[in-house]
Amino acid sequence: MAHPAVARLTLEEKAGLLSGASFWRTRAVEAADVEAAVLTDGPHGVRLQTGAGDHLGLHDSEPATAFPTASATGSTWDPDLLREVGEALGREARALGVDVLLGPGINIKRSPLCGRNFEYLSEDPLLAGVLGAAWVEGLQSEGVGASVKHYAANNQETDRMRVSAQVDERTLREIYLPAFERVVTTASPATVMCSYNKVNGTYAAQHPWLLTEVLRDEWGFDGYVVSDWGAVTDPVASVAAGLDLEMPGTGDRSPGLLIDAVRRGELDETVLDRAVSRVLGVHDRLRAARATDPAGTEDVDPGADAGAHHDLARRVAAASMVLLVNDGDLLPLDARDGGRIAVVGELARTPRYQGAGSSKISPTRLDDALTAIRAATDREVGFAAGYTLDAEDEADPTEQARLRDEAVALADGADVVVLVLGLPAAEESEGFDRTHLLLPAAQRDLVAAVTGVTPRVVVVLAHGGVVTLDGITGVVPAVLETWLSGQAGGSATADVLFGVAEPGGRLAETVPLALAHTPAHVNWPGADGVVTYGERLYVGYRWYDATDREVDFPFGHGLGYTTYAYDDLRVDVPDPSIARARVEVVVENTGARAGAEVVQVYVGHPGAAVDRPVRELRAFAKVHLEPGERRTVALDLDERAFAHWSPDGWRVEPGTYVVDVGASSRDLRATAEVVLEVPAPVPALTTTSTLDEWRAHPAGGPVLAEALAGQAGAGTLEDPETLALVGPMPLRAVLSFASSGDGPDPDEVLAGLLAQARDRAPAPGSGATA
Ligand code: BGC
Repeated sequence: MAHPAVARLTLEEKAGLLSGASFWRTRAVEAADVEAAVLTDGPHGVRLQTGAGDHLGLHDSEPATAFPTASATGSTWDPDLLREVGEALGREARALGVDVLLGPGINIKRSPLCGRNFEYLSEDPLLAGVLGAAWVEGLQSEGVGASVKHYAANNQETDRMRVSAQVDERTLREIYLPAFERVVTTASPATVMCSYNKVNGTYAAQHPWLLTEVLRDEWGFDGYVVSDWGAVTDPVASVAAGLDLEMPGTGDRSPGLLIDAVRRGELDETVLDRAVSRVLGVHDRLRAARATDPAGTEDVDPGADAGAHHDLARRVAAASMVLLVNDGDLLPLDARDGGRIAVVGELARTPRYQGAGSSKISPTRLDDALTAIRAATDREVGFAAGYTLDAEDEADPTEQARLRDEAVALADGADVVVLVLGLPAAEESEGFDRTHLLLPAAQRDLVAAVTGVTPRVVVVLAHGGVVTLDGITGVVPAVLETWLSGQAGGSATADVLFGVAEPGGRLAETVPLALAHTPAHVNWPGADGVVTYGERLYVGYRWYDATDREVDFPFGHGLGYTTYAYDDLRVDVPDPSIARARVEVVVENTGARAGAEVVQVYVGHPGAAVDRPVRELRAFAKVHLEPGERRTVALDLDERAFAHWSPDGWRVEPGTYVVDVGASSRDLRATAEVVLEVPAPVPALTTTSTLDEWRAHPAGGPVLAEALAGQAGAGTLEDPETLALVGPMPLRAVLSFASSGDGPDPDEVLAGLLAQARDRAPAPGSGATA
């Protein structure tokens, strides 16, 4: 339906409304009562710029709460918490007069080298989709629109504005699109942001299949599509393909091209009307939601919210921290009694709490771990920097050695060392990819030196994308992953170290043993403008499981300060002819502290006719349990949990599926099998169908059998050894060999068989086509 303002707008005004007025604003048309709207980053805080605008994190923005980045929030596995974060962001955005906040980032972490992985949630589409949807619901409940990004297949920064991601449709459908699909179909985001890159040769910004067929026609998206900043190269092709708003504005250039195209008859004016209607409609809906909500914009007090939001950021940070190792229960530390604590690491006093680029914001406060640790304990706390945050090639070796020796001296004789390590800001950012997964050499040397004087070392890690932990895993007894944990990350670190809070996180991405083991390794980052997704579906744990590789820490892993037992797994399929199941499992907190366990349900189909990952995450739940508490956790598996993408769409094969329930993708605690008796998919017969396909076809099988009955040599086709050779051949070739040039024309015979099979086709979709 056209927006009422469309009738009052001139062609020039309509064209103008389809690209920005400036960096962060759309245009207003006073005569037609069209107001401007403000779109701004996102996604970990509100980056409202009132001075110079930029999308690279160069200029200042208004103070706002810096929440933990997506690699942290992804590790919470807690949609309720993501909803709370979304709500808080919505309140801040609204107080600052923002209409659309540019997030969440839900691209799949295809390689740990992606410089922007800190801004993405997971290597798994279900986890990214569920968490992304909750964030969007929270944000939009405040009348602020989300912009789900970056659609689609934007999984690297190298050449990001040109590279073509070559991805087959099954891989897109099963890995790279489902998180977007889930957010769009369950959370109705106000906008979707298309990515810079090309997908199979066509810019995402002008991709009719992505922007219209899949997004709108299949998923029912009813918001507007905004370009990533500067992603549009051909405004006419973009609008024709389904893009609605180009950002930032290009002055008169893009509107001029649209006007010319309409005047020349190359673009129908109704296409402009539709895009304008979508943009204005979304902005109207958001304004109406803000107007009817009692917490109106004027009632939101950013100052008062700042304290509460800082507390929320602290809670979220603790809930995202992953305790990778805790040998001998070294953690939590006793806050009252014990000897000296040595805090080592520049990152303990100079926190790296957010990523660089468009998501970089000005925090309202900033906690560092050193101050927070000192405030949290009565014990003596010493500090040594241990290393600098200089770029590796600029670091002075003499100074590094001095810092290391000073740290070793402090560690020597301490009761425990808290060694804070991580990546310097220069090593990971939007805009470029990493080249290795190692911690800086000075930090690795420091670990070796410190563990040389005391075994009681807790390594605390701070970085966005995963790092390999050679020299740490198996060497130090406790490792706490804190990610880029936002402005309250320092106090959350102290909370977790002293057991005031549980380390609530579980890995949303695998920690590999080496870069060379990673799924995209030989296809990264592409060359000559093309990157081939050659690993196909086998991304993250799907790859490590399929190739049977050891990993350092598997997807889903994370310890708490208590333990859990799993019992009584039941998988109930109410009707085997329908692919649906209910999983029930009893989880008990067997330790002495309260905690939260993430119950993970994986499904595999070992006998599948197509290649499939060994197991895939299909449901999960975070359950809070008091000591000794037992609870039955129920999770539903829908049809998609069993399906794979085929050339004919989503398909569920009949057969035996394996349902694993566990505490990680490699810590499976209970297994059950379910048998689905859904109708077998019947591939349509064609001129190239094989003998096996004919024999298996419900209509073609009998037709062929009748045709062969009594024919000389037909009996040999019943012989299993012959069939093993001949069965996979196209029937046409078999007929051709059989006639040896002097029998009936194989094409005529085949055409006759196809016609008979078509007449006898038992069900729609299973018929023969010539
Ligand atoms: C980023 C987007 C961001 C936009 C606006 C782009 O460079 O890719 O994620 O929202 O800039 O800052």
